[in-house]
Amino acid sequence: MTDTSTQSFDIVIIGGGPGGYGAALYASGLGMNVAIIEKDKVGGTCLHRGCIPAKEFLETAAVYRHVSGAKDFGIDTSQPTVNFSVSQARKQRIVDQLWKGLQGLLKQRKITTFAGTGQLLAGKSVKITAADGTSSTIAGNAIILAAGSLPRVIPGFEPNAPTVMTSDEVLMLNELPQRVAVIGGGAIGCEFASTMADLGSQVTILEGLPKILPGCDTDVAEVVVKHFAKRGITIKTGVQVTGHTPQSGGGTVISLGNGETLAVDAVVVSVGRVPNSRDLVAPGTNVSISDRGFVEIDVNTMRTSEQGVWAIGDLVNTPQLAHVGFAEAIVAVKDIRGEHAVPVDYDKVPWCIYCHPEVAFAGLSEQAARERGIDVVVEKHKFIGDARALILGEPEGLVKIIAERNPATGHGGKILGVHMVGPWVTEQLGQGYLAVNWEATVDEVAHYIQPHPTLSETFGEAVMALTGRGLHG
Ligand code: FAD
Repeated sequence: MTDTSTQSFDIVIIGGGPGGYGAALYASGLGMNVAIIEKDKVGGTCLHRGCIPAKEFLETAAVYRHVSGAKDFGIDTSQPTVNFSVSQARKQRIVDQLWKGLQGLLKQRKITTFAGTGQLLAGKSVKITAADGTSSTIAGNAIILAAGSLPRVIPGFEPNAPTVMTSDEVLMLNELPQRVAVIGGGAIGCEFASTMADLGSQVTILEGLPKILPGCDTDVAEVVVKHFAKRGITIKTGVQVTGHTPQSGGGTVISLGNGETLAVDAVVVSVGRVPNSRDLVAPGTNVSISDRGFVEIDVNTMRTSEQGVWAIGDLVNTPQLAHVGFAEAIVAVKDIRGEHAVPVDYDKVPWCIYCHPEVAFAGLSEQAARERGIDVVVEKHKFIGDARALILGEPEGLVKIIAERNPATGHGGKILGVHMVGPWVTEQLGQGYLAVNWEATVDEVAHYIQPHPTLSETFGEAVMALTGRGLHG
């Protein structure tokens, strides 16, 4: 590596995932001189071990479902078979294409990229240790920590592919296991369970809490639970796994903590992610790191407790989503520039889960709104009444809208939450997200036209019903 000891930048960013590269692109677009330090590959978890590969697998599952159901449309196909290694190779081509594009973009924007591990030193400087052990130091007027996160591991279930895997290993599989236990029924666990079940694996979800998808509105989660059950996915809730016994012929037997056991060929541990803060900060700075490993920040500005140092993305204790990382990157860069940054409203960020059926929401659930003592009006509209959903052959699911009650009319007022489950809802959330964040009322939104026939008419119908003047419902 060249001698970089004298190099100084407007901003030095440690970590090249969505948070880090988002900050680099935004700042360079404003004419700032930016360096990014990445120890693996720019694109981070999202591109290489997260969002993108997981969605490619889900699309493979969707194609399989569509081909299997083609007879309903009068299209005769023989029973489809899966060669998962082809999907793995396709996923890798997509990831590599996006990776190449991102590297090109960073270069075009004249962002200096250092390969190595960055460690924050006192005085807004960063030590970079390259893979060959050589090290150098660069300085920044501002530093952004964006080191992301790693899969959480449960003691006794350390990764040991192909038997025990985290998302990192699952996303590299060339063949799917026959019998699989997914520990953790959150968003990522449900996406893996959905993919594997559609492609022929026998899937059991083991969840410690009383229900899967605990962050979702209850009506929405129930649709997923019913659909999963119909597709043969077993869901065991309130289960605290205590260990597992690998079998000589392969596979393992999991102890479920209640005397029961479960024999499987593979275990997918999907119990959240831990911030990647170990060794990120050298002694001698004031960066504060919580017991759980999160870098502590002021959420209005993304400033850490060390002057001149900001932190964003999965490294901080905010929703661990790529688009939240992008939004936090913009807040940090604006704050660095002395501009007024509108903070991220974490209660209202968009959430999308790409399992089948898909889930998408923004804003308060009905339960959360009632717990806050808000007088609400709620409307639920099912996709079964939507022409496009019937045409697609995917009529399961609903749109649920939670609005503050308008005391003058008794009908809906300001829209507080939009919760969807069903066909392509991840692509439909946009207007619900905008309505919640714009703090629009149902009367304002109901004025606008939904094209016919579309899935988004279900959202439109629910909004109209909340005004007290529904059309079809
Ligand atoms: P990361 O993406 O983790 O990037 C951090 C980068 O920093 C890495 O490249 C790492 O190598 C590098 N790094 C770490 N330490 C150092 C160091 N000391 N020096 C130099 N480099 C360092 N989010 C969504 O919004 N939508 C989804 O559909 C979605 N699906 C997901 C599916 C799965 C299976 C998983 C695991 C995650 C998913 N996520 C999804 C979450 C999303 O991937 C993360 O929220 C996002 O990647 C966080 O971005 P980040 O930049 O904070 O961190």
